[in-house]
Amino acid sequence: MDLLKKKILEEGSVEEGNILKVDSFLNHQLDIAFLNEAGKEFKRLFADRKITKILTLETSGIAIASIAAQYFNVPVVFAKKIATKNLDRETYESDVFSYTKGRTYKIKVSKKYINKDDHILIIDDFLANAQAALGLMDIINKGGATLEGIGIVIEKGFQDGGQLLREQGVNLKSLVIIDSFENGKVKFR
Ligand code: 5GP
Repeated sequence: MDLLKKKILEEGSVEEGNILKVDSFLNHQLDIAFLNEAGKEFKRLFADRKITKILTLETSGIAIASIAAQYFNVPVVFAKKIATKNLDRETYESDVFSYTKGRTYKIKVSKKYINKDDHILIIDDFLANAQAALGLMDIINKGGATLEGIGIVIEKGFQDGGQLLREQGVNLKSLVIIDSFENGKVKFR
């Protein structure tokens, strides 16, 4: 997606620990015109799939998932991150290791919002080691729903999440894939 490449080159910055900061359009301030284009592109990429729901993870996935959902005409469910270790019988839960925060946390979704008739598209802002995606897939599995695909805005191709998911046969589509951050410069695949 050329518009996204342009925005990453013009507005993104590479931070310590191979973190790409894109706060001006995706992770803090939201560029709605851009998000609309990204949402339309997800609709085009998954047009052949019957989608009944989009699933994401709070907080940074909510904006792009919500904008994309307008093109699919489906609701968005976001998994909540919880500190408590208490098991709640009314929720599906999974553990996720956060690459950016360096710690593991629990995510949960109410059983009311995932059921066996659902055909789910996961949408998230970044893909690194696929910990978030695997946690969401675990929840979809626990709910007996069907995973139709995963749509990612920015895939960091030098981390192993993309390969891991593709090897599992997941229908994974990323709007851009970054191959490296050489001397702070972004190189696209
Ligand atoms: P994963 O679970 O695939 O290892 O990491 C994906 C999650 O970590 C995303 O939901 C995103 O919030 C965060 N993340 C991973 N890498 C980056 C990055 O380079 N920049 C930003 N802003 N977030 C990232």
